[in-house]
Amino acid sequence: IYADVQQGPAIEVFALTQAFRDDVNTPKVNLSVGAYRTDEGQPWVLPVVRKTEVSIATDETINHEYLPVTGLDTFTRAATELVLGADSIAIKEKRAFGVQTISGTGALRVAAEFLFRQLKRNTVYYSNPTWENHHKIFADTGFTSLNSYRYWDQNKRQLDLEGMLADLDKAPAGAVIILHACAHNPTGMDPTQDQWKKIADLIERKQLFPLFDSAYQGFASGDPDLDAWAIRYFVDRGFELFVCQSFAKNFGLYCERVGNLTIVQRSGATRDPIHSQITLLIRGLYSNPPAYGARIVSKVLNTPALRQEWMDCIKGMSSRIREMRKLLREKLVELGTPGNWDHIVNQIGMFSYTGLNEKQVAVLIKEYHIYLLKTGRINMCGLNTGNIEYVAKAIHAAVTL
Ligand code: PMP
Repeated sequence: IYADVQQGPAIEVFALTQAFRDDVNTPKVNLSVGAYRTDEGQPWVLPVVRKTEVSIATDETINHEYLPVTGLDTFTRAATELVLGADSIAIKEKRAFGVQTISGTGALRVAAEFLFRQLKRNTVYYSNPTWENHHKIFADTGFTSLNSYRYWDQNKRQLDLEGMLADLDKAPAGAVIILHACAHNPTGMDPTQDQWKKIADLIERKQLFPLFDSAYQGFASGDPDLDAWAIRYFVDRGFELFVCQSFAKNFGLYCERVGNLTIVQRSGATRDPIHSQITLLIRGLYSNPPAYGARIVSKVLNTPALRQEWMDCIKGMSSRIREMRKLLREKLVELGTPGNWDHIVNQIGMFSYTGLNEKQVAVLIKEYHIYLLKTGRINMCGLNTGNIEYVAKAIHAAVTL
């Protein structure tokens, strides 16, 4: 009965990580996977997370009963406040609420299912390029009109705002527009505040539905308020919207699958019906979410001293990434590598679209054992003071081949 099942294609980022592990050569560098690494090239458990884990593990009042279908209340409230701001008008007017999800991917999937089933949406737009799972999540949900809007100008290595606006102008009313809240994956290039205003004008005029994907709040700039600027700007302008939050990067809780879907409405009167339908949706998908990671995030965000420690951690991570951007650009300029490398420091977050082409990427992987996506996307966290010279020289060699 299984004979007709066809072999599916490999998922590039996981395949590269496996190839990196299997590679016996030294030096070798993994710049593909989207996770933070220390300057020693190691994964990092945030000290405040470790401390909180210990206190939760020894707390006799905590048990392993099921959470409610929509998750841990103290977590969803803190997550919604983190993204909209504690003084958000939408929170004050009780027209915003959150539901816990299986990390950012789960938030996107629940959002897509709700939009498809309840609001009868079947058209989505995502940036070109985007995190490749956007397409898959909406296609698997049943969306039939899957479109991309221009975003990255490969020649100028910058945002193509004109192209983006022209493409969105063609979207039908009600279309779901996925926007990266900050630290655009994979390009690392975000709109400026001025550009966000133009994007909001168009979305308003065309009556499109903004869905913010917020996977890097605080991790991008080190300041969670700054990283939520675009979302809060849209909320202040009165948009109804969704925010899909991931706590994988900013808490280093990748495998614990901590996420939140925030729903902003024009009026709190729609809260209960929406909440009830999302409850039924999640019930049929996985019944209820895991508690472990949500308890950690909830305790940290709701305890001022721990929250401060977390703020220090995200500042540390984001500044190490910025330092690597600066160093890589400096080394390439020093080597006289042809091309302009300013985009590396103008981008934000862990990813950089280097502008390297597929042939150059192949050289880096084959000759130098430096693993990166074929689009030329690198994870800056894979760089450290011990390997940056090697990587810069390899890029120089690949570009000048
Ligand atoms: N959106 C974007 C843009 C991402 O880069 C990621 C993580 N790679 C996610 C969502 C979701 O990740 P997770 O499900 O691990 O929270």
